[in-house]
Amino acid sequence: MHERKIGASMDSLNNLNNDKAAIVKKVHIETWGCQMNVADSEKMLSLLQQRNYELTLNVDEADLVLLNTCHIREKARHKVLSRLGVLNQLKNKKPELKIAVSGCVAQADGKKLIELAPQIDILIGPGKIDQIGHFIDATPHNGVPQVALGFDRHSEEQNSTSTDDIGKFIAPTVSGKKEVTRFVNVIQGCNNFCTFCVVPFTRGREVSKEKSQILNEVRGLVDQGVREITLLGQNVNSYGLDFIKTEIVPQDGGPFVELLKAVSEVQGLERIRFTTSNPHDFTRPLANLFASNKKMGRYIHLPVQSGNDHILERMKRKVTVSEYLGRINWLKEAVPDIAISTDLIVGFPGETEEEFEDTLKLISEVEYSFVYAFKYSARKGTAAARFSNHLSEEIMEARLKRLNDIQNAITLKQNQAEIGQVRDVLFFYENSKIPGMYVGRSEHYRTVRVKSERNLVGLTLPVIITASNKIAMEGILN
Ligand code: SF4
Repeated sequence: MHERKIGASMDSLNNLNNDKAAIVKKVHIETWGCQMNVADSEKMLSLLQQRNYELTLNVDEADLVLLNTCHIREKARHKVLSRLGVLNQLKNKKPELKIAVSGCVAQADGKKLIELAPQIDILIGPGKIDQIGHFIDATPHNGVPQVALGFDRHSEEQNSTSTDDIGKFIAPTVSGKKEVTRFVNVIQGCNNFCTFCVVPFTRGREVSKEKSQILNEVRGLVDQGVREITLLGQNVNSYGLDFIKTEIVPQDGGPFVELLKAVSEVQGLERIRFTTSNPHDFTRPLANLFASNKKMGRYIHLPVQSGNDHILERMKRKVTVSEYLGRINWLKEAVPDIAISTDLIVGFPGETEEEFEDTLKLISEVEYSFVYAFKYSARKGTAAARFSNHLSEEIMEARLKRLNDIQNAITLKQNQAEIGQVRDVLFFYENSKIPGMYVGRSEHYRTVRVKSERNLVGLTLPVIITASNKIAMEGILN
């Protein structure tokens, strides 16, 4: 076969090239929600590239539009429906356009979504993303949408990169750019069933990825120039409990601590982060790792959701406020200046004024570097959606504002205290609107901007912080 190609005339080579050009198609991907979805979009893009699709950022030139959706709040779901309306107009002008919907809205709404938006050609839940390639391979279907929902214990996706491929792993980015920081999915799903959360229904139970495959992916990404990896899971610190058949993290920190140690040994990797942690599965050895392993940085996201025990119990969070504060103390003992962020839900059904004020007390006590605070949003199928005493929008809005005002003052105070400090900053990109302005993050996960005539992307350099506001710092190279 190779000999025939080598011996081909220029005309036949041109024909071959033309054929190749003819079969390259374009996919436009829109990703909503969490980092897990970004990682899933990248995985689907890599499967589509194997089918001769290339990424386009311009929806008008796409042959396939993939919406990777989020269902965490009702507003996020509405955005998907409204986007499907716009895409329908595009499909009317271009009938051969394929529309695929993946992610948590696909799983949660299922075929009902197709009734609402019959222009959908492919519907794939987060547990079946590996099937996108098969659907694309299929001959044009007869107007019947192709649907894959539900969860397998071990999907093809999880075993799609063997240890024999070490060093060969290549994952494209959905931005279409070379990135210095990337996500690596290490565990899918969640076993916890917090009463407000839809994740166990949309992403299934916990299934960990083999350590060898994770290391393979990390090495491959580092070979491509990646310097920071964020290990992802809805409940990332229960990684590997399914392998050792327990629901309780062992006293030594268990498989997740082992995984972090192994990943940190990858040559060329400068930083490891992980998200999202459940305080219930957070161990002292994990806190101590921040002290002993410089690649871990000095930042952690540890969601608490509420500062009141009664609300935490009704959320089924499995930890009390004092147990949560115990974990914060482990972290502060390990790294006294560690930066901590959290997630908070304001206006959980039945939340009283006093219970809300306990959350305000908690944020003042912990002094988070920042918080992701949201008004409670009832998700169909969850236990909390059936609770009585749902709060009015006005009460939730007012409480959210009070909380954000307090937190913003704390964030500003902490950022101002950074002025004069020297911080190691890993630079991610050059600001496209301000040439020579490089943007990176410090060990504490604070955004830092530095002017430089030389390209700083991918470098970790000491920076003297010279100015700050609530959002970011500015500095000069030390
Ligand atoms: S631990 Fe996180 S992902 Fe799991 S149910 Fe609770 S909030 Fe949802």
